[in-house]
Amino acid sequence: MKKSLKIIALVLAALTAQQTNAQNKKLKIITTLSYLQYVTQEVGGDKVDAVALANPKQDPHYVTPTPRMNQLATDADLFIENGLSLDMWAKNVVEASGNPSIQPGSPGHLVATINVPVKELPTEVSRSWGDIHPQGNPHIWLDPFNVRIIAGNIAERLKQLDPGNRDYFQKRFDDYKATLDAAMFGEELIKALGKSGGDILTRKAKNNELIDWLKGRKLEAKLGGWMKKAERLNGMKIMSYHKTYIYFADRFNLQIAGELEEKPGIPPPPQHRDAVVEQIKREGIKVILNDNFYSREAADYVASRTGAKVVITYVDVGAVEAVDSYEKLITYLIEEIDQASS
Ligand SMILES: [Zn+2]
Repeated sequence: MKKSLKIIALVLAALTAQQTNAQNKKLKIITTLSYLQYVTQEVGGDKVDAVALANPKQDPHYVTPTPRMNQLATDADLFIENGLSLDMWAKNVVEASGNPSIQPGSPGHLVATINVPVKELPTEVSRSWGDIHPQGNPHIWLDPFNVRIIAGNIAERLKQLDPGNRDYFQKRFDDYKATLDAAMFGEELIKALGKSGGDILTRKAKNNELIDWLKGRKLEAKLGGWMKKAERLNGMKIMSYHKTYIYFADRFNLQIAGELEEKPGIPPPPQHRDAVVEQIKREGIKVILNDNFYSREAADYVASRTGAKVVITYVDVGAVEAVDSYEKLITYLIEEIDQASS
């Protein structure tokens, strides 16, 4: 009798340990880009372990899959990509991993930008002339409102994969949304509007009626955050090397006057550089954005002939210490453009 009780006790202890393990087991998540890792970790907290495959200093269009990436993906519970043909290189990683859980179409595979409105949808699909944006412009995360949607997509998938932690993920998502809203509009304004303030302001801003709406309520003095900082950039024309900033520019009311690349993915031919010089002189453009992974030769050539300033920009979280969070990445862009133009 005594012995059998001991056995039962041992079995019970083992079962409890197993259960605790299952509860404590973090979802192992692989993301293509670092901004996705950052957002996933914000929403998933200590219930997930997210790792990004690409180096944030690299051009996200062109990443070479490595055996280490395949290894990371072999036992992942969830694979998250940006999609829109930006991180197509990751298709090889997913295939080579041999991990059935993360293959396209399974719950362990998420295209994070699903249901985010895409700009620059092509009318004619042809990669022969170097269009590396065949599904529209994929640089979608440089508008914080899109990251709000992306964070929601990630939260929904985490709930699906780990339903026992649904409430936890919802709370984390709500908190992250509040962080983004405070960064966008300033804490004071959000506080003045109460619980659904962030949602209301986001809707008004998306419909381009934010300022009028605030004026109507005598709240415009309370506007802070990125929206306030970016007021100084309102209507400013900028040049960029690649079509990286159209979402960012639309959100913060800048105008992209053109690109140094004549076609996305093709280095600028000399006659195009000279045309850009003429355009910058004609339109009084002061700033050229050059992503850190592109040669700055063309930008320097144009700058030296026009007096425009070259700003070296980063597109992914963690490319340098100054942009080690998504929020800092957006702040960096706004402040650098402001500084270069004043
Ligand atoms: Zn691109």
